[in-house]
Amino acid sequence: MLIKEFFKQKKPVISFEVFPPTRNYNLDSIYSTIEALKALNPDFISVTYGAGGGTKDHTVEIASIIKNKYKIESLAHLTCVSAKKQEIIQIAKELNENNIENVLALRGDLPSDPNFKFPTPLHYKYASDLIEELNHRYNFCIGAAFYPEGHIEAENFETDLKYVKFKVETGACFLISQIFFDNTYFYHFKDRFEEMGLKIPLSAGIMPVTNAKQMNRITTLCGSTIPRKLSKIIAKNHQNPLKLQNEGIYYAAQQINDLIANGVDGIHIYTMNRPEIAKKILEKVNL
Ligand code: FAD
Repeated sequence: MLIKEFFKQKKPVISFEVFPPTRNYNLDSIYSTIEALKALNPDFISVTYGAGGGTKDHTVEIASIIKNKYKIESLAHLTCVSAKKQEIIQIAKELNENNIENVLALRGDLPSDPNFKFPTPLHYKYASDLIEELNHRYNFCIGAAFYPEGHIEAENFETDLKYVKFKVETGACFLISQIFFDNTYFYHFKDRFEEMGLKIPLSAGIMPVTNAKQMNRITTLCGSTIPRKLSKIIAKNHQNPLKLQNEGIYYAAQQINDLIANGVDGIHIYTMNRPEIAKKILEKVNL
């Protein structure tokens, strides 16, 4: 089923993100993750592609398992930076052959390696170029990313918003947000988005804080602001991992409850392949 249809039928649409296991790729671990997530009854599950320098090798396989074995709708991420045009065209073909109907079209994180050359004439440069190509070849329902605080490389918020608008005009039919910890940014983005006459669904990307180190890494990579309330929680509990995890789960659930109360279209939980955390969050959410 096309993800845009879920958004027409219900609110909020609930989805999870998983990533292909990196070390000693082991399908057993992904099976158990998907099984545990399935018990939480998501509308769809997305699978990352080369995120944070991680693996891109098994996205098609895992998206296919989610869809064809577990009968849950899947969303395959695809990035321009991790693959050249020819490879992307091949992957799109495989996705189509595996009955996968939904693709999240992304540029991808730029590798820190100074010798890595991007973009070259062999690459798509922006997510919008990828959206255009996918739309030209297949009938995927295409999603794209947005940044409630503006993308970290963008000159400013309004410039980034202009390019998000372009992704919508090129064919994205729903958007999923970068991690944010202060809902005010999400509401501000939504207001500006609607003021521009844009109407497609916006799903809120929520990541629970489960350890202080992970938090530093993620916020450095994506630039999300940590509100005072959350930084106090981290400072107070960083030497007590279980307490920090519980507080992080509670914070994420509160964020989600506020978003739902304000009519959010979708909630997308970055599960970090830890279904037990997603479960604890949803137990505290008023769906
Ligand atoms: P783009 O939309 O191409 O934007 C990149 C930058 O270029 C922005 O600063 C934008 O303002 C600017 N820009 C865009 N279009 C133009 C234009 N036409 N002219 C000039 N400037 C332009 N990364 C992975 O590697 N793998 C994943 O699986 C993955 N999954 C993600 C899932 C979600 C929900 C999100 C929010 C992010 C994900 N990322 C993933 C990270 C993402 O790839 C990075 O944030 C990346 O830096 C930007 O990707 P984008 O698709 O938003 O890029």
